[in-house]
Parts: sequence; C-alpha cells; structure tokens
Amino acid sequence: MKNHSRENLPMPKKPGRVKEEGAKFTDGIYSDPRILEHYSLLEEIGIFSRIDKLNKQIRGYHELVTGGLDIINRTSLDAIIDAAVFRISSHFMPSFIAFLWKPIQNRDEITIKSYQNCRLTDLGIKLHSIAPFETFFEQHPQPVNFSLLTAELKDPNVLAALEKIKPEIIVPIVGGFGLYGMILLGQKMSGDSFSNEEILFIEQLMAFVTQAIMNYLNYQHSLRDVKTGLYNHGFFIHRLGEEISRTRRGSFTSSVIVMDVDKFKNFNDAFGHLAGDKVLETLAITLKQTVRGEDIPSRFGGEEFTVLLPDTGKESAWAVSERLRHAVEAMKVPWDPPLPQVTISLGICSFDHREQLNADNVIQRADAALYVSKQRGRNRSTAWNPGMGHVEG
Ligand code: GH3
Ligand code: MG
Ligand code: MG
Repeated sequence: MKNHSRENLPMPKKPGRVKEEGAKFTDGIYSDPRILEHYSLLEEIGIFSRIDKLNKQIRGYHELVTGGLDIINRTSLDAIIDAAVFRISSHFMPSFIAFLWKPIQNRDEITIKSYQNCRLTDLGIKLHSIAPFETFFEQHPQPVNFSLLTAELKDPNVLAALEKIKPEIIVPIVGGFGLYGMILLGQKMSGDSFSNEEILFIEQLMAFVTQAIMNYLNYQHSLRDVKTGLYNHGFFIHRLGEEISRTRRGSFTSSVIVMDVDKFKNFNDAFGHLAGDKVLETLAITLKQTVRGEDIPSRFGGEEFTVLLPDTGKESAWAVSERLRHAVEAMKVPWDPPLPQVTISLGICSFDHREQLNADNVIQRADAALYVSKQRGRNRSTAWNPGMGHVEG
C-alpha cells in the first residue's frame, strides 16, 4: 500500500482553507466503496461520530491559529485589542467585552476599552487600577467566573464597580511582568452560559494576546529611553536618516533642534542625582506636550534632547524652539525642597535637498548653533548659519 507522505496530506496553502480541507478529507473516505460495505459496523463502533468530532476540533484549531496569527501580527495595543474582540465575537456573542490594561509609562492607572456588538461603547466601568486583582490572578491564572472572584476578592469598591456591569467571565492577561490587564465578558446574548470549550478557546486566544502585548512592549522599549519614555538616540538617528532621504526627493525643508539643560550639574550637586532625574523626567513631559504628534522628541544622551521636525522650515523651527524654551522656563518640577528654575539652550539646523547633508552634518550644525547659545549666556535659541562652521568643543 502506498505510504502517506506529507505531500499527500491536505495541507492548507493559505489561511482560510483548512475548513474545506477537513470536509474534503472525510469526503474521500465516505466515497470509498469499502466504507459502504462495512457501513453498519463502522457506525456501530462510532467511527463517523469520531470523525465528525475530529473535524470539529480541526476547525476549532484552525480558527484559533488564524485568530492568533492575526492578533500577533498587530503592531499597536489598540489593534491587538480590536483583533481579539473581533475573534471572540466571531466565535460567540457576549453582551459586552471590556479590556482593561496598564499603559507602559504610567503603570498605576488603567485604560479601559469596551465593546457592545463589536462597537466601541462606554460602559461606565469605574475601576482605576488592576492592582486589587494581582494576588487573585497569581493564584488563578486562568479565566474565572465572576462568582468565584466575588467570593475571594474582598475589596468592596472593586466588587461594586463590577457588580454594576455584571461580567460573567473574567480573563486575566498574564505575562513576563505579571498581570497586564483583564478581559471582562458579559453573559452570552443567547442567554446560555459559556461552555468549557468556549472558555478553553478564550484562554488559548489570550495566550496570543499576551504574546502580542509582550512583543509590543519589547518593541516600544527598543525605541525608547527608559528614564523619560522619549525616543532613544538610535531611533532618532534612524528617523533623521529617513527624513534626510525624504527631503532629497522632495522640495520641502525639515529641521532638527538640539537642546541642553543649562548648568545641569548644579542640580545634581546641590540637590542630588534623584532631583536631577526628576528634572529630566519633567522636561521630557514638557517636550512631548509642546511638539506635534508627527515630531520625534528624543533623549540624545545625558541632559541633551533633540526634536526632529518633519516638513518644518526655518521660521517655524525657530518658533518651535522658542515655544520649547518658554515652556521649560514656566515648568514646575515637583520636588521638595523646590528647585531653582530650569532653563535650556537650543540650536537649530534646517535642511532640504540642495546641500545633500548627511545625519552627522545636520547634528554638527545644530550642535554648533547650541554652542553659540551657551556662549551668549544660555536660555536662548540660535539657528545655524554658514558663519558658524561646525561644533568647536
Ligand atoms: P551647561 O550649561 O554648559 O550645559 O552646563 P552643565 O552643567 O549642564 O554641563 P555638563 O555637561 O558639565 O553637565 C551635565 C551633567 O549632566 C553631568 C552629568 O552627571 C549629568 N547627567 C547626565 N545624565 C544624567 C542623568 O540621567 N541623571 C542625572 N541626574 N544627571 C545626569
Ligand atoms: Mg550637555
Ligand atoms: Mg548642560
């Protein structure tokens, strides 16, 4: 008899084909005349119901793998969650689905996204932290019924908030850093309770969600500076290179601002390193709030920061630089005892296709302009001009 090599098995060529393949596989068996010959025997020993069951299982795994790959290929948290909601809803329809998770930067707060009929809806969930659930889910790292949670969780505020929306199942999202978040599922629209198979499906799907979230966090960390949450030096240089190429192909100007905290050593020396760190963190927040969404504010190193301003000419870059300088002048650093006012010096370099500059040239020019700002007494902006040459020290 011919050996069943791998090539002979009905392997899916692309997502979406396994469903039909399962049926085709059994069709082949059913049309074999030998099956008809022994039909009653095979039925009696339960072969057909076993095949049906296996086919159902294959379809379930196919759904899981397709859904899981869809989730894992998403590159933003919102997209991961949208994909998970879509996958759950296409399996069965709960009265609502709510995702609660901790953002990367501010891990004490939570973000909530809830859906009814796959549409984003505000369910008015009044929860401010997932900390009360951490110990519980350490002991039960799997989907649980709300009744089990109420029996063990003693926090009355949390219980009251949940009681109001009446989730039936609560699914933890647990990864390398502990509890990332939770998914709350309302009772099924059909009124039935969740079957064990459905709960298993959700649990397995959540393994993909957790992995996708961890990939996302790792990716974000590889682009960002840990202390300030701004983009890091490597990402800034990469984006600057891209922007230079873009200006070479177009007829617009882009700019870079380099800034350095004035007399920063004094903060460390007089108030300690932690006070210095607080200055840098507060400065980063001010920087983020002062530039546009498409700009790239980065920590260049130490107490030096840069902003890449795509599609921004000399005059606008000057205006941004001055806006930043004033914002820092007005900035309050939360520290006890109060710290002296922080100021920064800035240097600006604008570039377009005419000079064919590379990333090093642009940074050297912005640095030379910054040096002039320092020389002229600090807390000021300077735009590079040809008389300045390159950085002198
Ligand atoms: P200038 O106005 O000329 O820039 O004076 P400055 O004191 O800011 O310049 P200098 O380069 O002498 O000092 C920078 C200081 O920044 C020295 C370094 O210890 C400190 N620094 C660099 N990175 C960090 C950090 O992450 N945290 C803290 N607290 N200090 C840092
Ligand atoms: Mg410096
Ligand atoms: Mg400095």
